Amino acid sequence: MSASRRIRVGLLGFYHEANSFAPVRVDDAYVRAAGVFRGEDLLREYRGSESTAGGFIAAADADGQVDLVPMVLSVLVPAGPVTAEALATQVASFRDALDADGPFDGVLVVLHGAAVSDDVDDVDGHLLEVVREAVGPTVVIGTSLDLHANISARMCEAADLLNTYRTNPHVDARPMAEEIGRLVFAAARGLIAPTTSFAPIPSFINILQQNTDVSPMSDVIADVVATAALPGVLTASVAEGYPYADVPEMGMSAVVVTDGAPAKADELAHALAERVWLRRDAFETQVPGPEEALEIAAAADATPVLLLDVGDNIGGGSPGDSVVLLDAAIRTGFRDLVTIVNAPEAAASAHRAGIGGVLDVTIGANAPHATVPPVTASATVIGVSDGVFEAAGTLHAGFRRFDAGPSAALRLASGQTVVVTTRVTLPLTPVQLEDVGLSPSDFRAIVAKGVHSPLAGYGPLVGRVIQVDTPGVTGADCSRFVYRKRRRPLFPLERDAQL
Ligand SMILES: [Zn+2]
Repeated sequence: MSASRRIRVGLLGFYHEANSFAPVRVDDAYVRAAGVFRGEDLLREYRGSESTAGGFIAAADADGQVDLVPMVLSVLVPAGPVTAEALATQVASFRDALDADGPFDGVLVVLHGAAVSDDVDDVDGHLLEVVREAVGPTVVIGTSLDLHANISARMCEAADLLNTYRTNPHVDARPMAEEIGRLVFAAARGLIAPTTSFAPIPSFINILQQNTDVSPMSDVIADVVATAALPGVLTASVAEGYPYADVPEMGMSAVVVTDGAPAKADELAHALAERVWLRRDAFETQVPGPEEALEIAAAADATPVLLLDVGDNIGGGSPGDSVVLLDAAIRTGFRDLVTIVNAPEAAASAHRAGIGGVLDVTIGANAPHATVPPVTASATVIGVSDGVFEAAGTLHAGFRRFDAGPSAALRLASGQTVVVTTRVTLPLTPVQLEDVGLSPSDFRAIVAKGVHSPLAGYGPLVGRVIQVDTPGVTGADCSRFVYRKRRRPLFPLERDAQL
């Protein structure tokens, strides 16, 4: 057998999950602060990582006959929608890179699948169309999306190959991207002919029920894996969707890609959607509020207890400045708790005071939407750091390097410990506590501002995990939000929805 044909494949992307209810808009400055990686810098940043870009690069390296052309990539911390101006910048950046660096046999696109802008509901579909227009109809385009993607027909039409992660917390970004990489290379060499079927499901799933290690999502993913293993199937996915994006395509969906068998792709995608739909009664749940959660933590035998601040889920676009659980701990006399709060002014004051310094601080509720007022307290500085740290192991979505900006550990007069940061930081690893000199295992309760994403990093450390029903723009009860654009009917908000 002859060696694989040498091919030229472009790599670019814009990775963002947009919460329509979040106060922070993504403008050009936000994107620049997150990092815009180009050319060799892109490869240096992502080669060897567990991220989607890391998976695309690994696939090209493993193939040995792929000239990978790194163009431009930004990966953002979830926040509100992108401004029209910032989306125009991205589109221009994509077009410029594709024009300058082409022609290609294939293009690999790093996208989240739930990006929204002020002027475009389906940013991911829009960017895939920009790529398609630039490279023409015959170049193979592949993308590997987050499990929270709100997949649209437009995305499936513009891309030849599309899959999603199958884990939440997301610890398989790299292998799922490697799969798309291999398939794009095979299609570019004419060895396969992908045909995609997209089956939207008129439902979303409560954020609390999205962990793929437990039912119902473990059952859904087992169906996906079984479908993907059938002969002639190139890849299969069920997206959980992202319920905080107020757009028509918000919700779950099934996607099946076959090798040149469109009818089979249709049949399997609809069968997968049907099996998801039959499980819908398990898509809802209820969990304790702050005070009840603290009572459970106070009585727990195995500590630390991880308290998940669902309403201030940073990975879902929340601002990471809520003090709802800290406030409840102060009010109920629960002293042995640590929480990380984005509080730039308190962090600056603590750095000026230095370790051992005593100061009056105001913590939390930076944005006007805040659900409880800030906490004002007397505090002693017990640790300081520049906030730059790196974690080992596979964290959610393959993140590894963090920059929280100048950070400090404060011990409040009421006993609780607060890590104040200058920048909003994804709550993925207890290394962030160690970075300011704390020993995470010493605490009875640790607050993490996430739902599933903290579990990959914090899971091995903690004795128990409690999801807490806290208020905020990522609150678990979506009936509290006022949607304008989502499709209707949509289960469970409209219980008479039909597949
Ligand atoms: Zn996600």
